[in-house]
Amino acid sequence: MAEHWDVVIAGGAIMGSSTAYFLTHELGADARILVVEKDPTYSRSATTLSAASIRQQFSTPENIRLSRFGIEMIRGLKPEFGADADIGFHEKGYLTLASPAGVPVLTANHAVQTAEGADIELIAPDELARRYPWMALDGVALAAYGRTGEGWFDAHMWLDLLRKAARRRGATYAHAAVTGIARDGNRITGVTLSDGREITCDTFVDAAGPAAGDVAALAGITLPVEPRKRFVYVVHCREAVPGLPMLIDGTVVASGVYVRPEGQFHICGVSPSDEEDRRCADDDFEVDYSLYEEVIWPALATRIPAFESLKLIRAWAGHYDFNTFDHNAIIGRHPEVTNFVFCNGFSGHGIQQGPAAGRAVAELIAHGGYRSLDLSVFDWGRLPAGRKVVELNVI
Ligand SMILES: Cc1cc2nc3c(=O)[nH]c(=O)nc-3n(C[C@H](O)[C@H](O)[C@H](O)COP(=O)(O)OP(=O)(O)OC[C@H]3O[C@@H](n4cnc5c(N)ncnc54)[C@H](O)[C@@H]3O)c2cc1C
Repeated sequence: MAEHWDVVIAGGAIMGSSTAYFLTHELGADARILVVEKDPTYSRSATTLSAASIRQQFSTPENIRLSRFGIEMIRGLKPEFGADADIGFHEKGYLTLASPAGVPVLTANHAVQTAEGADIELIAPDELARRYPWMALDGVALAAYGRTGEGWFDAHMWLDLLRKAARRRGATYAHAAVTGIARDGNRITGVTLSDGREITCDTFVDAAGPAAGDVAALAGITLPVEPRKRFVYVVHCREAVPGLPMLIDGTVVASGVYVRPEGQFHICGVSPSDEEDRRCADDDFEVDYSLYEEVIWPALATRIPAFESLKLIRAWAGHYDFNTFDHNAIIGRHPEVTNFVFCNGFSGHGIQQGPAAGRAVAELIAHGGYRSLDLSVFDWGRLPAGRKVVELNVI
């Protein structure tokens, strides 16, 4: 007889493990939850290759709410997780710079953020000059800074914490790939694994990150999520840059280069323009060093003259779980194949939104609807309806 599970989750990184963790709460420890992960080292997962940063500076209330739960989770870790709770969180804020043309957007975003309770302040250039004397302010008309609730952490520790907690509470992890999904009309009946196992399930969750579109296709479902390459460069600066937060140089207009401290080094990167951005092969992790030399370094050295002497230490490539429709999450049940649940397409802001997304998916499965946070704006149904979630702060 086929092995049966209440819920099978494809992918065990931040989305899969958050979902499993919250499911054990919502369904109870007796629930049979199987997380199928093809690479238990997670060495190519977006989660572990990310910049591991969290912000409240979004333009849509739902994205702010998703990330605010991430912060609540990080702050509230101590009681439940004991010694594992320290995930190296540096609450040092994001500083987003805007040119004169970007001021209306930055100001409008700030109004949405503060209405959601985010602790973001607007800073004029004279105050920026006082606080950050090492920064050149040419072309900067205004900035937004997250006084609290923003910063960065250790991605491996974050994942490890949720994975261990999900396991401790009864979820099972299998080392295999989901290679087939069986459907009987509008119901998913089970999955085939790369080790040859055929298993049945009541509910299937797609948490396969950049491969989520391919996994959905196994069930004959269209999901516009694909891998898009992004690079992270680790650099060393001889001079100190005291109090450097996560600096976003003009997301709302100009270059969009980011840089933040990482131990004794800094990490930096930039997203390509829409025209240059395209799907990459699943196994393409080759770094483009010319992007650092030609775009990132010049932009950083212009903004922070001490960075003129930056030394590149190393770099890596990771894959965004990119939603080509509107660059935002797709969460919830498929409207017809209702036991197929999405937790996908976070497009660069997923590691911080994993806990809220996992909790939402768990509530949906356990109770048939959202209880903590209404995330219906991220329904798959918006795709055929052509209804985009417009988020202006995609980094
Ligand atoms: C360079 C970079 C920087 C980023 N910076 C940030 C940031 O600062 N802040 C932020 O919030 N987000 C950031 N992100 C985005 C964030 O990392 C992702 O949105 C998030 O980690 C997605 O999590 P996931 O669990 O869906 O995907 P993943 O972490 O990719 O996990 C998916 C898992 O599914 C497994 N899998 C795939 N196919 C199958 C299959 N068929 N069967 C079984 N298992 C399968 C994979 O092995 C993988 O472990 C960044 C991403 C990148 C690449």
